[in-house]
Amino acid sequence: MSSASRAAHANSTAPDIFDAIIIGAGICGMYQLYRLRELGLAVRVFEAGSGVGGTWYWNRYPGARFDSESYTYGYSFSASLAEQWDWSEHFSAQPETLRYLEFAAQQFDLLKDIQFNARVAQAHYDKQAKQWIVTTHSGVQARAHYLITAVGVLSAPYTPSISGRDEFQGESWHTAHGPHRAIDLSDKRVGVIGAGATAVQLITEVAKNVGQLTVFQRTANFCIPLNNRPINTHEQTTLKASYGVMFERCRQTFGAFLHDFDPRSAFDVSDQEREIIYERLWNEPGFGFWLGNFHDIVSDPRANETIAEFVRKKIRQRVNDPVVAERLTPRDHCFGTKRVPLESGYYEAYNRPNVELVDLKSTPIEQITATGIKTVERQYPCDIIIFATGFDAVTGALTRMDIRGEEGIALKDKWADGPRTYLGLQIAGFPNLFTVVGAHNAANFCNVPRCGEQNVEWVSDCIRYMGEHQLTRITATVDAEEAWRAHCEDVVSHTLFGATDSWFMGANIPGKKRMFLGYGGGLPRYREKCDAVAAAGYQGFILE
Ligand code: NAP
Repeated sequence: MSSASRAAHANSTAPDIFDAIIIGAGICGMYQLYRLRELGLAVRVFEAGSGVGGTWYWNRYPGARFDSESYTYGYSFSASLAEQWDWSEHFSAQPETLRYLEFAAQQFDLLKDIQFNARVAQAHYDKQAKQWIVTTHSGVQARAHYLITAVGVLSAPYTPSISGRDEFQGESWHTAHGPHRAIDLSDKRVGVIGAGATAVQLITEVAKNVGQLTVFQRTANFCIPLNNRPINTHEQTTLKASYGVMFERCRQTFGAFLHDFDPRSAFDVSDQEREIIYERLWNEPGFGFWLGNFHDIVSDPRANETIAEFVRKKIRQRVNDPVVAERLTPRDHCFGTKRVPLESGYYEAYNRPNVELVDLKSTPIEQITATGIKTVERQYPCDIIIFATGFDAVTGALTRMDIRGEEGIALKDKWADGPRTYLGLQIAGFPNLFTVVGAHNAANFCNVPRCGEQNVEWVSDCIRYMGEHQLTRITATVDAEEAWRAHCEDVVSHTLFGATDSWFMGANIPGKKRMFLGYGGGLPRYREKCDAVAAAGYQGFILE
């Protein structure tokens, strides 16, 4: 693949021309840049933020930290990087993760190819020139042969349009757009809207040092203990020596975590034995209680009810006020059909005298006023309102840009009835566009860096193959795309996910098509399918 395209940039008023443009300098975009540079390509990354890190750059709310074991989250491709970096905790906090990604960017000299403060507004395919024309909000324009989006799964924040939202006179922010500075809340009245994984971390931390905290919860979640702790010197040495084994384990497990489902059914053991197993998993770190549990908890409602009831019992034990405990107890969905929040004292936060839980199911928000939040029951004065209301997940970051394929077709129109992709990596009618961690991709239900690396390596191999075979254009066929969509729907139809409203299903955004947005078959099966397509000469794609 030539990088001579820069030479075509003879006219200084013409846009820059690159072999590839990457949108996003998060963990996947950074690695994609690294791999494409290795192929000798001229690459430009456009990044909306003023630094690298993606999720870890934007989400700086109090309490933000890993739910993946720190050492399973870092890049696996560089033994040297892994050796140089010491994670301080088994589940590290946001500032440390951001420092890690900044360190990686320096180690691999990535910054020189990244344009920061450059949010992409448009990406249009120029059929004649066989180039993507990418334009940022500030009007910077560049062209490239390949366009790769690495925009993340959860990067398009969703703030509900509650009446009076703009009237509020205090400070107000979404968790992904919070202040990039420490905030003293000790004399503040804080209202948090939401009770998902973000809110659970935020509430636990804020409750420790706040004047008054009021939580506005619509749906109670099943939360499980993170069981975090610092990494001591001995563990550090052992961890570093076992990186190879650890990453290999992550390659083999369903969600690319250290945990994997127990092949037994919940009913293969006695009630007493099951309780002992649940208790053991409850005390394990990370997602073990969810992803290391009996395999049929995600497919059999009866098996699921055994674990749901176990968690309900734990909530009752930990929350002093039985009325509050009942409000925090989920009864309207199966355990694990929403992303399970990991917590470190979340339930105990509600035992503090300055923390109040408002149940929006029985007393919905009527409006936001100049001084707080008013439910149908009463007004709650707030100095700060924090929206922990989630994201237009998976598709939102792509459809919020004006991406147009070869016939001028807009991606948001093509996806009006739900996303259509091939392998979650390409879209028919959008040649040479690759969507790393895209829709219907295993990466949406995964320890993201592990699946992201698989995506990036597949895309890089494909681009290398194109160069080696003097090919200039690759596009998925409509038939391949349709078969992939049907496969994704078939896989998820054997699980309980479809019955629950969650971002997995796109059901958290009013008006969004209800459809499972990921690939529910797990990383090993997904990788096998991607590899088989490549081995068959990129079956399902048209290469020219
Ligand atoms: P979320 O799981 O979608 O939760 C959003 C919350 O806002 C829900 O409680 C939702 O209630 C509520 N909400 C939305 N609209 C509302 C409205 N109009 N009125 C009242 N409440 C409303 O979003 P999230 O908590 O930001 O988490 C998103 C994902 O980010 C997680 O699932 C996870 O994958 C990721 N995350 C990862 C980490 C980590 O790895 N460390 C940490 C945090 C988050 P309903 O449930 O009733 O809709």
